[in-house]
Amino acid sequence: MRRAAIVHYHEVSLKRGNRSLFLRHLAMNLQRAIADLGPVPLRQLSGRILLELEGHPRPEAVRDRLARVCGVASVALAERVPSTLDAMRAAVARLVEGREFASFRITARRAFKTYPLTSVELNRELGALVLERARTRVDLHHPEVTIHVEVLPAETFVYTERAPGPGGLPVGASGTVAALLSGGIDSPVAAWRMMKRGCRVVFVHFHGVPYLPPTSQAKARALVERLTEWQYRSDLYLVPFGEIQREVVLAVPPPARVVVYRRLMVRIAEALGRRHGAEALTTGESLGQVASQTLTNIARIDEVARLPILRPLIGMDKLEITAEAQRLGTFETSIEPDADCCTLFVPRHPATRVSEEEIRAAEARLDIEGLVARGCAEASLETFAFPAPTGVVAAR
Ligand code: ATP
Ligand code: MG
Repeated sequence: MRRAAIVHYHEVSLKRGNRSLFLRHLAMNLQRAIADLGPVPLRQLSGRILLELEGHPRPEAVRDRLARVCGVASVALAERVPSTLDAMRAAVARLVEGREFASFRITARRAFKTYPLTSVELNRELGALVLERARTRVDLHHPEVTIHVEVLPAETFVYTERAPGPGGLPVGASGTVAALLSGGIDSPVAAWRMMKRGCRVVFVHFHGVPYLPPTSQAKARALVERLTEWQYRSDLYLVPFGEIQREVVLAVPPPARVVVYRRLMVRIAEALGRRHGAEALTTGESLGQVASQTLTNIARIDEVARLPILRPLIGMDKLEITAEAQRLGTFETSIEPDADCCTLFVPRHPATRVSEEEIRAAEARLDIEGLVARGCAEASLETFAFPAPTGVVAAR
């Protein structure tokens, strides 16, 4: 039996101009996702991508990896047969042989309309064959088994199950963003959301060493390692922020401190992100969740940014974000106890509305440029790869 993985994407959402870019990135990412599973030839077909699996020892493993690639709508392991009715009948017969199912439907699709039989005729022909071979009935609305038959000019693909993919756009197709990654629940989800919209993400984590233990760095590494499964290669900056915070504490009254910290983080992340061509920043902020995330304070944070700050979680509530973190597998790491730099020198009652005048007065007492330069100079860069036997492939 000739096997293949058939990858579908949401064609309708593709505009003419960006279609080839989308497909180029998608094909490249599909290959990267399975790079350690042996050679798998890939071909673009009309409206889908075919990966040849004839003789491959682990087709299911290939399918599961492909089903996690951003831009993929679904993946199916299919049998490939010539586009003749006899060959299709034989494939459908093999598929139902020895299987029990109370109901089924045939979903035939022709990728080219010149095929001599219409999809309705194919459904009827192949449906009749199944009814001959198995004790079952047709149910068009809630079938237990759907037999897909995709007819292309050269060959036809027959399969029953489709593994759903994340949808969205392939990583790389939308450019690069720098993500402010804490050890919390929200920012890894935000970074993933940006990947799903086609962004390559560069991570920036601020830690409190030497004032705090290095736990938050370990969490950031673990989170990046996880998220690298969707972009195959990641850069993570670890920025020592304890000294910088200490300087803020010496100069700025408690209520405005959190916003000053955040504005410094934004400036540093922007400078680091630009080294990688980042065109925007992203954070895990969600409106009203904590004091620094009010409209007023968000405005204060945005004032210092020269790149757009994208906040994909702004309208989500904690339950939705938590559910997504669990699905992504970042939740367990995020809830590990730790003290990141945000717990360092943080006032008991941060202001929910810091005015422009207040923040300007606070920052006037600091050497902002010097602090930003220091953060950038002291940042260390680590690189992660997937698939890889170990998370860190190179540390500089
Ligand atoms: P999270 O769950 O992502 O930590 P949060 O609900 O704790 O978010 P804040 O502490 O106000 O909210 O942080 C808001 C955003 O600021 C975070 O989502 C993240 O993008 C960024 N941020 C906060 N702390 C750090 C840090 N130590 N390093 C990098 N980015 C951070
Ligand atoms: Mg946090």
